[in-house]
Amino acid sequence: MKINWDSNVCQHAGVCVNTLPNVYKVEDGNFVIDTSAATEEELQLSIKQCPSGALTCSSED
Ligand code: SF4
Repeated sequence: MKINWDSNVCQHAGVCVNTLPNVYKVEDGNFVIDTSAATEEELQLSIKQCPSGALTCSSED
């Protein structure tokens, strides 16, 4: 599963980073998403919890 992040839509609410800090991280000033650090269910939930809709998933990787 691949997670796409739209920087133009993100409200920087930090919900994703607070919910799954091992997945959603800021490294060297860049927002990175490590999908290997959580289960698919956890990832799907975090996408739903994003208040802005900036996170979307695509199953083909
Ligand atoms: S939860 Fe959504 S709006 Fe908040 S920082 Fe993450 S991607 Fe951006």
